[in-house]
Amino acid sequence: MYKPVIGLEIHVQVKTKSKMFCKCSTDYFEKKPNINVCPVCLGLPGALPIPNKLALEKTIKLAIALNCEIPEISKFDRKNYFYPDLPKGYQISQYDIPIGQNGFVEIEINGDSRRVRIQRVHIEEDTAKSIHINESSLIDYNKSGIPLIEIVTYPDFESVDEVIAFAKRLKQILKYNDISDTEMQKGQLRFELNISLLGENTIVNDKGLPNYKVEVKNIGSISVLEKVANFEIQRQKHLQEKNIKIKSETRGLKDMSGETVFQRYKEEAEDYRYFPEPDIPPFSITKEWILQIKSTMAEQPVERKHRYLKLGLEGEQADVFVDDTEKGDWFDSALKNIQQDLKQQSNFIQPKELAKWIIGEISGLIEKKSINTINNLPFSQKWLIDLLQIYYDKKITGNVVKKILEEEINQKSKNWDYKSTKDPFKLVSERGYLQIEDENFIRETVDKVINENKKIVQDINKNPNAIKSLIGYGMKISQGKINPKILESEIKKSLKIE
Ligand code: ZN
Ligand code: MN
Repeated sequence: MYKPVIGLEIHVQVKTKSKMFCKCSTDYFEKKPNINVCPVCLGLPGALPIPNKLALEKTIKLAIALNCEIPEISKFDRKNYFYPDLPKGYQISQYDIPIGQNGFVEIEINGDSRRVRIQRVHIEEDTAKSIHINESSLIDYNKSGIPLIEIVTYPDFESVDEVIAFAKRLKQILKYNDISDTEMQKGQLRFELNISLLGENTIVNDKGLPNYKVEVKNIGSISVLEKVANFEIQRQKHLQEKNIKIKSETRGLKDMSGETVFQRYKEEAEDYRYFPEPDIPPFSITKEWILQIKSTMAEQPVERKHRYLKLGLEGEQADVFVDDTEKGDWFDSALKNIQQDLKQQSNFIQPKELAKWIIGEISGLIEKKSINTINNLPFSQKWLIDLLQIYYDKKITGNVVKKILEEEINQKSKNWDYKSTKDPFKLVSERGYLQIEDENFIRETVDKVINENKKIVQDINKNPNAIKSLIGYGMKISQGKINPKILESEIKKSLKIE
């Protein structure tokens, strides 16, 4: 048995209009190379950096959302290394006093929640982009100096599922707090995986963790992250099973399949000769500033999830609404329409039932009919609640609800201005969808069912499932106007089966 020991390092591009230390635009995606540049982000001698306040605020916000300790005074440091995409020869980053430390993120695994510890959250600047064409290398400095938040976790992940749950939760936190657009195809969110396996014969360090660590950088999508983690677990398992000693190394992605290839060994930790950035004085993060930032923060993903679970939603339903906030908001305002009627209605719609309709039938139709977003539905939340209430009052069948929803959404897909203005009760009664509670009609239908299905009736004791085809027949000849539950009990009564 091998236990994975996994840690993550994440880089996030912060959503700001201007770069971290100059006024150049951050809008670089698919732009002409080297148009958003100035002496500061080109690293020209004598240029002075001025920190971007919004980027600092967003980093503080993230530190709060990740439950971190925030120091009263923080500072910038220089991380020295040479690379063509780093024109100054150093990156302005944070070393010993990051904006956030010792936080945690709550994730759920199979219904249980657990915490992943956050080691640090700091702000720094992005590098330029190297483009390699044949034998030459080109550099585009539009990306140089874009604010970047780095998040480092402790090696707390013991399974790939936990890694993925964390990546998704982090993405939600970044979106909820408007820290980043997190568009992964644009490289706004990049993962680095640190992974080793602990087996019975693995050599361990003084912390009881494997004495080696494999690092895979620049993973730009959560699905690739999952594949890489699975690939590395298998690769390292085979090596350890054959008693081959694994060295600490950096590996790269071969392609999007998750397969990794050797790049270089990491004999020792890199020495970046960090020292305080002399051009930017240390800055204070006052209690007032933190409170003011906190006051702008709305409900967080974990809070939202707990709220839904308390309402009785299934974990998976809650996850849909936490992740797709547009749908979640729509559900929330639909819910308000039920709760107003709560006292009068005995068969009021359970939140879980409402969620089932929105996530199932309605979402399916939105996709099928290219409605794009739930906010483009032709009906209001109140209209839906009124329609569903007729169903939960057992006056129409579930199939009728489906039919009406499909018809209305169909109208909308043909005519974008269409609105479902007609009262749902009027609608179903005019179309003859209301179920008939008339005893004579039910009696006649049951008699017909029995007379026209003599063979099935004869076999009913041998094949108890036959009752279903009798109910189906009854629904058909009554055009769905009898409540199937009533039909079932009346047929059983007539045939004298329990
Ligand atoms: Zn600039
Ligand atoms: Mn970094």
